[in-house]
Amino acid sequence: MSIRRHAIAFAAALAVLSVSAPALAQEKLKVLATFSILGDFVKNVGGDRVEVTTLVGPNSDAHVFSPAPADAKRVAAAKVIVTNGLGFEGWMARLMRASGTKAAPVVATKGIKPRKQAAHGHSHGHDDTDPHAWQSVANAKVYVANIQAALIAADPGGKAAYEANAKAYLAKLDALDKEVREAVAAIPKDRRRIITSHDAFGYFQAAYGVEFIAPQGVSTESEASARDVGRIITQIKRQKIPAVFLENVTDPRLIQRIAAESGAKVGGQLYSDALTDEKGAAPTYIDMIRYNIKQLVSALATS
Ligand code: ZN
Repeated sequence: MSIRRHAIAFAAALAVLSVSAPALAQEKLKVLATFSILGDFVKNVGGDRVEVTTLVGPNSDAHVFSPAPADAKRVAAAKVIVTNGLGFEGWMARLMRASGTKAAPVVATKGIKPRKQAAHGHSHGHDDTDPHAWQSVANAKVYVANIQAALIAADPGGKAAYEANAKAYLAKLDALDKEVREAVAAIPKDRRRIITSHDAFGYFQAAYGVEFIAPQGVSTESEASARDVGRIITQIKRQKIPAVFLENVTDPRLIQRIAAESGAKVGGQLYSDALTDEKGAAPTYIDMIRYNIKQLVSALATS
């Protein structure tokens, strides 16, 4: 092969490289989400333009998360930081400072009217704002709108893609909301009442009319007192509450004890504050809501 032919081959190779180089070099927008449910929303809106990192992983409890030094590095590497807000990530401000990040956190619940914890007649001395806004599908749509705005602000070139992704996902959420309403309608009115370990379903209750009663407050940080547990056992017996449910992020023993002492059946497990991993029953937000309503219907629809 002559030098000239080598040169041509080399130029051709370069041409191929320069065609594919922009696609290869185009760095994905690095987005950090504080917990798994937010991470799923970001993936749905961001699609393949974003690389999502989640701090609190599947089946883990964000209320009591303690960040490791590696987490500060992950925060520092992110262009966009998405938080739930409403006091959910009490550890986040310190982690942000430790990371030295210049990014301003995006609060995904911006615009949602915060719910206060149902009055227990006493205070644990904590903020009683309920952070679990994602448990209403209408609120999830607000999360998606806030995430869409944040991604467009950080990556204006992706505007059309983010808008199209969000639109498709919002349509799925509308269908999901309808599914929840139909499922609840199948449960007799006087049986729409259950016990969970921590008060994570207040927004679900307000949106769909199933009453949730919990011995622990809106955070898992403080343990239920003997008095709270005793009161709930009395209430289960008096109101003939049909079922108690376990959660994927809390210790099952409290609920098992309440079931044993009250005679209520354990209706199954609900996903409250975290998704499962890929192999679990709720690897996405939509899977999680669907799984939860299936559990509710099967425990409550018939006695
Ligand atoms: Zn919670």
